[in-house]
Amino acid sequence: MSDCLFCKIINGDIPCDFIYQDDDLLAFKDINPQAPFHCLIIPKLHISSLSEITEDHDELMGKLTLAATRICREQGLNKNGYRLVINCGEDGGQTVPHIHMHILAGRTLQWPPG
Ligand code: AMP
Ligand code: ZN
Repeated sequence: MSDCLFCKIINGDIPCDFIYQDDDLLAFKDINPQAPFHCLIIPKLHISSLSEITEDHDELMGKLTLAATRICREQGLNKNGYRLVINCGEDGGQTVPHIHMHILAGRTLQWPPG
């Protein structure tokens, strides 16, 4: 989608602090980290939010979750733990309308969120 920030990152029009990619997914550091380790994993397919996913995306969403756990393992985060977050819509705090999973780690995270 031409006016989507994360599609521009996928296309290479906007640089990112790259972590991982495969045919379906791209992972990169969040530009405004909220924890010592904060990265985003996005599908290369433009899906605007969690509320738009269907059964057609079950494999993709599974790959997204598996890639997140693999990155966490490789980053040495399993011992102390981490949080995976997908914000959805305005009340969910979503600011970029291309579905993305946050990995937050490296400090004790509070619950409930604000
Ligand atoms: P959300 O609020 O869940 O939609 O998360 C969007 C995230 O994208 C925020 O944590 C932003 O800091 C992050 N972000 C925005 N622009 C960029 C960028 N150019 N590179 C990396 N992360 C970004
Ligand atoms: Zn997009």
